[in-house]
Amino acid sequence: MKILVLNSGSSSIKYQLFRSEDWVSIANGLVARIAEPKGELKHTWLEADGSQRSSEETHPVANHDEGIDRIVARLRDTGSLADVSELVAIGHRVVHGGTHFKEPVIVDDGVVEAIRGVIALAPLHNPGNLSGIEVTRRLFPKVPSVAIFDTAFHQSMTPTAYRYAIPEYLYTKHQIRRYGFHGTSHLYVAKRAARLLGKPLSQCNLITLHLGNGTSATAIRRGQCMDTSMGMTPLEGLVMGTRSGDIDPGVLIYLNQNLGFDIDQIDHLLNRESGLLGICGVNDMREIDRQAGEGNARAKLAISINVHRLKKYIGAYYAVLGQVHAIVFTGGIGENSAQIRARSCKGLERLGIVLDASANQSGDSRGERCVSVADGEVKVLVIPTNEELEIAQQAMTAVGLQ
Ligand code: AMP
Repeated sequence: MKILVLNSGSSSIKYQLFRSEDWVSIANGLVARIAEPKGELKHTWLEADGSQRSSEETHPVANHDEGIDRIVARLRDTGSLADVSELVAIGHRVVHGGTHFKEPVIVDDGVVEAIRGVIALAPLHNPGNLSGIEVTRRLFPKVPSVAIFDTAFHQSMTPTAYRYAIPEYLYTKHQIRRYGFHGTSHLYVAKRAARLLGKPLSQCNLITLHLGNGTSATAIRRGQCMDTSMGMTPLEGLVMGTRSGDIDPGVLIYLNQNLGFDIDQIDHLLNRESGLLGICGVNDMREIDRQAGEGNARAKLAISINVHRLKKYIGAYYAVLGQVHAIVFTGGIGENSAQIRARSCKGLERLGIVLDASANQSGDSRGERCVSVADGEVKVLVIPTNEELEIAQQAMTAVGLQ
């Protein structure tokens, strides 16, 4: 049995095809620049002998219909999917599920309307996600389309964590509350952490740190999300590549009243020009690391502010949970930067968080690993995230086959 995972944005579609017997990813790729004069299709697949091959084409792709058609043709031509009837489900990543969706759902007309109904909460993401869903429902009506929401895992938060301290009607009438994002990644690494800890997820208290271009932290008690750093939008919380994370809302008022910024300029400033980029002019952590190593003061400051914020969240979530079994680092930075892990855990030894310097530094290992001292009270784990696999497995469960 095979499951296709689609992450469709406004002008691109990422995809991955899994074989359910062993959960091996047998093909993946990207259709980019949809509706532009030059479309792109990058495709990678496994041959029957296990070797990996890839191809790249440039060709205009008029719309999502054509993009998905081309993906299926490529899967067929390279021998990964003989026929669409081999698919037991198509799993769609959907960024925002509002308060409707706590679990993956098989998409019907009502689900489409509910996703459409929260477009205002994720105007950059939900329309593209929805296009992918509508196309697969139309092109492959016999294959269930399953929606998996980034917000779903965080729906276990109580009002104590998800309400803002603003007038009640803004919540009751306008759904202004914290939702959280990256939920599929947090859930995936939490499940893997439970396996590494050798106990059921329902017995694990974890702090999961997804540190990539977008970054977020989650406090998990007995397998359930208690709090998370992103809010109504993915702008709240930790320092990100180009997003500010937490900021005094008074700054926005000041920008408007004293510097003449209008709301679009404030949006652009906070989402696209802030974070690491705003502090040091670069948003890629590898480059910031390199510049800091050469003594660049702005790059050093960017790392310090980033680490300081991370440490504050670890401390806060430790306080929320009371007892923590493991801290989990994931995402491009969390998985690869020994320095960020070391600096954000430094000084937390009295909380039982003690890194093993050589395990943390080890450049050879790239897989799941424990980087805390053997007798450490709180395990520090590095777990590469795999949101696509989590989506595939959840889609399989949703159609009752797992
Ligand atoms: P993601 O969004 O999860 O793909 O993560 C992207 C971020 O991970 C970028 O800031 C990269 O610079 C960072 N990253 C990837 N590899 C490394 C590495 N070896 N050391 C430090 N940062 C890295």
